[in-house]
Amino acid sequence: NAQEESGFRYLEETGEERYSSFLGVPIQRLGQMLGVLVVQSTEAEAFASDVVNTLAVVATVIAEMRETGIITGEGQALSRMHTQPVTYDAVIAHEGLAEGRVLRHEPRVVITNPVAENPGVELQRLDDAIRTLRGTVDDLLDGPTAASIHEQREILETYRMFANSAGWVRRMEGNIRTGLSAEAAVEMEQTEARSRMEKSSDPYLRDRLHDLDDLFNRLLRIITGKSQPADKDIPDNPILVARNIGPAELLEYGRGLKGIILEEGSIGSHATIIARSMAIPLLIHVDDITTEALDGDPICLDAERGSVHLRPDDLITAAIRNRIEMAADLEAVYTQIRDKPAITRDGIRIGLSINAGLLDDLPNLERSGGEGVGLFRTELRFLAANSIPSRSELSEQYSRVLDSAKGRRVVFRTLDIGSDKVLPYLKRDEEPNPALGWRALRISLDKPGLLRMQIQSLIRGANGRPFAIMFPLVADLMEFVKARDLAIATIQRERKSGHEISEAVEIGAMLETPSLAFAPDRFFTLTDFVSIGGNDLKQFFFAADRQNERIRYRYHSLYTSYLAFIKTIADRCHTHGTCVSYCGEDAGVPAVAVSLAAMGVHNFSLRSSSIGRVKYALLHVSLAEIASLVSNATRAGQTTVDRQIRAFLKQSEADV
Ligand code: PEP
Ligand code: MG
Repeated sequence: NAQEESGFRYLEETGEERYSSFLGVPIQRLGQMLGVLVVQSTEAEAFASDVVNTLAVVATVIAEMRETGIITGEGQALSRMHTQPVTYDAVIAHEGLAEGRVLRHEPRVVITNPVAENPGVELQRLDDAIRTLRGTVDDLLDGPTAASIHEQREILETYRMFANSAGWVRRMEGNIRTGLSAEAAVEMEQTEARSRMEKSSDPYLRDRLHDLDDLFNRLLRIITGKSQPADKDIPDNPILVARNIGPAELLEYGRGLKGIILEEGSIGSHATIIARSMAIPLLIHVDDITTEALDGDPICLDAERGSVHLRPDDLITAAIRNRIEMAADLEAVYTQIRDKPAITRDGIRIGLSINAGLLDDLPNLERSGGEGVGLFRTELRFLAANSIPSRSELSEQYSRVLDSAKGRRVVFRTLDIGSDKVLPYLKRDEEPNPALGWRALRISLDKPGLLRMQIQSLIRGANGRPFAIMFPLVADLMEFVKARDLAIATIQRERKSGHEISEAVEIGAMLETPSLAFAPDRFFTLTDFVSIGGNDLKQFFFAADRQNERIRYRYHSLYTSYLAFIKTIADRCHTHGTCVSYCGEDAGVPAVAVSLAAMGVHNFSLRSSSIGRVKYALLHVSLAEIASLVSNATRAGQTTVDRQIRAFLKQSEADV
C-alpha cells in the first residue's frame, strides 16, 4: 500500500495517477534496457509471483516484437531495431576511413517468432538443440587445439558445465511453458543470466559473460538453423564487427577487411598491432554495436574523427566517400615523393624505415619507399602460434624477411612479450602491474635458452647476410651487457660450428625507460645504436598507462617536458657518435616527427602507411625554425607546443 509508506508523496503536477500498488518489470533484451512495463492498482494488493512471472514473459514478447518491427507506431517509443541509422562514438586504434558492409565475427540471430502455439513442439526443439550443443562442446574439447591450449580448455570446460546444468535447461523449459517459442525462451534466459552476472562484483564472473553469450548464441544458431560464421558469405568491402578478437582470428580474415570495429579491444593489444601492420582502420570501445549491427548492414567507419555510422543516410555516406577520395588523392601525392630522400629545408637528411612484424608487411617496404625495417616485432609470430615456434620455423621466417628486404637494413627486435602481450603457452604468474612487470628483456635474461634460440635462428636465417639485433626494454647498462654478451657468445659458437655470419651484425638497445637515458657513458659507447621506443617511454615518463583510455590522452609527445627529455637522449647519443632513432607510434604523426627531428633524432621507424605524410612534412620545414619555436615556448613556460607546431605546418604548407 504505497500511500501508507512514509516516503510516498503524490504530486499532482506530474500528472501521475493515484495508485496504491505498483509493479514494474523491465523490458530488456541482452543487457539493453528498452523500457518498463508497469501495472498499477487503485486498491492495495500484493502481486503474486505468478503475476510477476506472467508480466516478465509479456515483457520478453514485447522486446522481441520490437526487434521484428511489429511494434512501431507514433512517437516511436519502442521504435524498430536494426533498421534505423545509428551513430556511435569510438576510440581510434588505427586511422583511416572505410565504407562497406557489416561482417559479424559471431553472427547475431534475429528471432521472428517470439510466441508459439504448441509448447510440446518447442520443448522438443529445445531438447534437440541442447543435445547438439553438448555434442559440439564435447567435440571441441576432444579436438587438437583445446588439448594444447590450457586457457581454451578451461573456457570449454565452463561451457560444458553450463550446457549440462539442469537448472539452466529447466528455466528455459519453464519459459516455453508460458507460451514462448524455443528461441525466445533461450533469449529470455540469456537476458536474465546476463543481468545476474553484470550485477556481480566478482570480476572473474563478469569476464565469463562473454563466454556465456557465446554459448547462448551457439544454441540460438542451432535452434534457428543459422549457419556458423565459417561457412557464411563474406560481403563486398567487409567491415568486421565483433565484441573482441584475438590475433590469430584476425590473421585468418587477412587483408581483405576494409575495417574493424570492436566493442572492447585496446590500443596496445595484439589485435591492434596486427590491424595496424595490415593497415586496416580500427575503432575500439564502440559500446553495444554488436546488439545493433546485422550481417550485411551498410556501415561507414570514420577512424579519423572516431565515429561509426551504421546504416548511414545518404548525406553521411556521400561525405565519407568524398573524404575517401581525398585520401586517395593524397596517396597519389605521396607516391610522387616515394623515391626522394627526406631532406628538410635546412638540409638535414632524415632516415625513414618501416615497422613490421609479419611476412605480409614486407611488400610495404617497396610500396612506401622505406629505407629498411627499423623495428621487426618478432613476437607477432609467437603471438599468432599455439605453441613456441621451432628454431627452423623461425629461421625460415627471418630468412624470408631478409629476402624481401633485398639488402636493406633490418632490425630484429628480440622477443618482447609480457605486459599485454601474453603467450598462452608460456606459464606466468598473475602480476599486480604487468606493464612494470616481468616482460621483454627481463624474461629473455631469465630464460636465456629462449633468447639464444632466437639469435641462432637469426644467424641461420641470415646465412651470412648482415642484420641488426635489438633488445627491448633495457633498463640499465648491466642488462644490456648481459644480453649483448649472450648474443656475442652465441655468434662465436655458431661461427665455430660452421655457420656463416656477417662481420656487420649490429647489436643495439631500445630506450624505453627513463633510467637508460641516464646510464653510464659506457652504455652509449658499447651499443651499436639506440632506438627510442616512444610508446613505452612516454607511459613511464608521464606515469600514464598506454592502455588506459581514461588517462592516455592527458599527455602527449608534444609536451615541452617530453621534447626536452628526447633532446637529452639525442645529445648523449651524438656526444658518443651513437646512432639514435625513434620507433614509437607517434613517429607517424607529422607534427610529432618534425618536432622530434628538431630535437636531434634524425632516424625514424614508423608504420608504412604514415611514411608519405611524414616525408611530405619533413620536405617542407626547416628544423632550426621548429627548434626555436620549441625553445621559445619552453622559455615562455608553455606545457605543450601542439597548437604552434600544427599551425606552423599549415603555414609552411607541410600539411596536405
Ligand atoms: C615502443 O614501446 O615504442 C615500441 C616500439 O614497442 P612496443 O609498442 O611493441 O612496445
Ligand atoms: Mg615497447
